[in-house]
Amino acid sequence: MTQTHPTETLPPETLVLRGRVVTFRDNPFTCDPLDALHHEEDGAVVIRDGRIVTLGAYVDVHPDLPSDARVVHYPDSLISAGFIDTHVHYPQLPMIAAYGEQLLEWLERYTFPTESRFCDPVYAQDIARRFLAELLRCGTTTAAVFCTVHPQSVEAFFRESERIDTLMIAGKVLMDRNAPPDLRDTAQGGYDDSLALIRRWHGRGRQMYAVTPRFAPTSSEGQLELAGALLAHDDTLFMQTHLAENLAEVEWVRTLFPARRSYLDVYAHAGLVRPRAILGHAIHVDEQDLTTCHHAGCALAHCPTSNLFLGSGSFRLFDALDPKRPVRVGLGTDIGAGTSLSQLQSLNEAYKVAQGTGHRLHPVQAFWLATAGGARALHLDHRIGTIAPGMEADLCILDPAATPLQALRVQSCDSISDLLFSLMMLGDNRSVRATYVAGRLVHERD
Ligand SMILES: [Zn+2]
Repeated sequence: MTQTHPTETLPPETLVLRGRVVTFRDNPFTCDPLDALHHEEDGAVVIRDGRIVTLGAYVDVHPDLPSDARVVHYPDSLISAGFIDTHVHYPQLPMIAAYGEQLLEWLERYTFPTESRFCDPVYAQDIARRFLAELLRCGTTTAAVFCTVHPQSVEAFFRESERIDTLMIAGKVLMDRNAPPDLRDTAQGGYDDSLALIRRWHGRGRQMYAVTPRFAPTSSEGQLELAGALLAHDDTLFMQTHLAENLAEVEWVRTLFPARRSYLDVYAHAGLVRPRAILGHAIHVDEQDLTTCHHAGCALAHCPTSNLFLGSGSFRLFDALDPKRPVRVGLGTDIGAGTSLSQLQSLNEAYKVAQGTGHRLHPVQAFWLATAGGARALHLDHRIGTIAPGMEADLCILDPAATPLQALRVQSCDSISDLLFSLMMLGDNRSVRATYVAGRLVHERD
């Protein structure tokens, strides 16, 4: 079936991506996954002015194309919406794969010394550039990104993202206690710096701001309240932080905020639990917390490679998504505690974590989480995450036979589900042939 935006007529500057298109028309956690999948064996995605205008079978679309349309053919590859990473720290890129510690010791020993370097804007610019290049190499086109406590780290990141025109969410870390002196702000200073960055960057092109308290232990109650005050100004702002990642951390929060019912309640009390809030991890939460998240419309970021790396525990994905009170969930890499920026690798580990909690993560559900589900978690599903007329043209081209072993494995694939499963278990950045941002080629593997 061909879908065309009714009011569109195709002008000369038309780009057509031809290949096997995989996207979603429904949530595969609430219906038969195969009914949720939209698959065009030989499909065409027609793009103009950075947006998708048509999706259909190539044979149906072809006769209506203008004679000078540029067709790029990706035979044997999948055309997917770009991946969405709902929790990642760009300044931690250089310290990925740091040996030996769990969360709190890992922060002291590796993270804080690394983040101290981002007072230098030249260094920040260099890492921001490398980070965004790595994301695109992995087919990720949108991310919710922690910067450091230094406003210049946010400037550097948004400047790079604006140059590429990626849709990115980022913010200055707020941290006024329990951190080294050179990484601390004050409640008022953090508020003022955040407000200036919001005025400069939020809604400028495709850049969006997230108010970013690192986590409850490193912010005073006064700082959390001022974070809530920033959010109260503007419904379109995001909020990102960490929640209940590690048992020692949960215990620490209990002693720091004895009046609160739970860790989540610390944030709720400050007005931070709301639509467009993204809570990283949420491993050690209870039923009442999940019910609160369901009603608030906030999102949980499932970061399996990080949780396994730091020994933090297992996120209960199917419990969070319980149809009785579904919570929005996206997938995060959480670099530098995560071990890969590739969401294919995140899906590999998410599958194993689900198995360990007695559930089967269907490949269609998995790819939905990494694309349309992530967009829904961020309340951006009207702009990104699926391939459909009117959507912004952020896409990745996936090669399911990128290595000799994968080429062997795909010989026995007898369905699109099996092909997707082999890709999520064996794939990584080598599987990404190309990445498009707003209809423009920004990464090409070969
Ligand atoms: Zn994190």
